Amino acid sequence: MIYQDSPDFAASLDREDPLASFRGQFNFPRDKNGFSPVYLCGNSLGLQPKLAVDFVQSELEKWKDFAVDGHFHSKRPWVSYHQQATAGFAELTGAKPGEVVAMNTLTVNLHLLMASFYRPTPERRKIVIEAGAFPSDQYAAASQIRLHGFDPESDLLEWRPRSGELHLRLEDLADMLEREGSSVALLLLPGVQYYTGQVLDMQGICELGRQHGCRVGLDLAHAVGNVALQLSLWAPDFASWCTYKYLNAGPGAIAGAFVHESHRSPDDFLHGWWGNKQGTRFEMRRKFDPAEGAEAWQMSNPPIFSLAPVIASLQLFQQAGLDRLRKKSMMLTGYLHWLVATRFDDRIGNITPADARGCQLSLIVKDKSIDARALFDRLCERNVTGDWRNPDVIRVAPAPLYNSFVDVFDFAERLSDALDD
Ligand SMILES: *Cc1c(COP(=O)(O)O)cnc(C)c1O
Repeated sequence: MIYQDSPDFAASLDREDPLASFRGQFNFPRDKNGFSPVYLCGNSLGLQPKLAVDFVQSELEKWKDFAVDGHFHSKRPWVSYHQQATAGFAELTGAKPGEVVAMNTLTVNLHLLMASFYRPTPERRKIVIEAGAFPSDQYAAASQIRLHGFDPESDLLEWRPRSGELHLRLEDLADMLEREGSSVALLLLPGVQYYTGQVLDMQGICELGRQHGCRVGLDLAHAVGNVALQLSLWAPDFASWCTYKYLNAGPGAIAGAFVHESHRSPDDFLHGWWGNKQGTRFEMRRKFDPAEGAEAWQMSNPPIFSLAPVIASLQLFQQAGLDRLRKKSMMLTGYLHWLVATRFDDRIGNITPADARGCQLSLIVKDKSIDARALFDRLCERNVTGDWRNPDVIRVAPAPLYNSFVDVFDFAERLSDALDD
């Protein structure tokens, strides 16, 4: 694609965009200081789909009009409401419907899935994470190690970029496992590194885990709804993702989980009544009768008002199709990359690998005479929403479902302006 630095060119790409109409199905934040919003923060909190408002409203109405009968006698009955997310999650993650379930929130799921898949023994007790792991994942892994009476100081291994480099290399993970693999119980790794935006070789990670007899869990927070996933094929033991980032389901919305179909023994997970087969659940038997598939990992009846926006959002993804979204995303982020490189090469760099990225670019202020944080604040004043990561990174992520090429062009304009201010 040959890009041009002009508003007409950006507008012409929007006119040719087959997904352009989805933008109108989202609520954008308000104007600020006379600037319309340039919202590039879908990696942190996606915008509100108008459909999500309708879906939540409809559940509130159901509660009002039918009260307890909403569980069984209504459109989308609450007793099986989570199943409304199954097809959408399966499609986005390349999983079989029986391998996915909507439940809890991400960190909670990581813990519950580690209850199943991190079962350390003195011989095989270590967890591998990446050195720059999202703090919640680090805390979760370290506390699991401690809970089992081991010491994260020696038992939490970090896969890190080589010195002087920013990105993770699979061969370094392979080397680490060559040395330590027989003592490693679990690899807990992301699909997309949240800071650099690097897309990791998830298939390669899963294969290495299998070779060395380790369990593999993937944190797909920044991957789902962003890049193509093939979980059934890659076969990690488990995965989980939040739904408020690229999936636009709203703050704290219900997360998703994947459990590979080879794991079904009821002795290997923690039970609650919502993991019991629906058919026998209300017989209130003493003995647990597990539901089929990943659903058995559920425990409680889910918070419907936090699940409703997930269902709404998945409908939009199913209409748009991940293939088309990904195609647009590569052009959109490609345009952003090109504009930043063309206009600001000496001042602003980009630490996201061009050959392994999703929506996100992590921009870095190269020119040390610029106060990076002040620059970020000047962007905020111009109603650009990205996000700041210490010490000098500004993450921007055009989301193909609602961002336009004009958004990307406007970002470059406002960045020029903010740099000159
Ligand atoms: C966003 C994110 C989280 C957030 O966890 P919650 O339990 O949803 O608050 C955790 N891990 C990673 C890698 C993330 O990107």
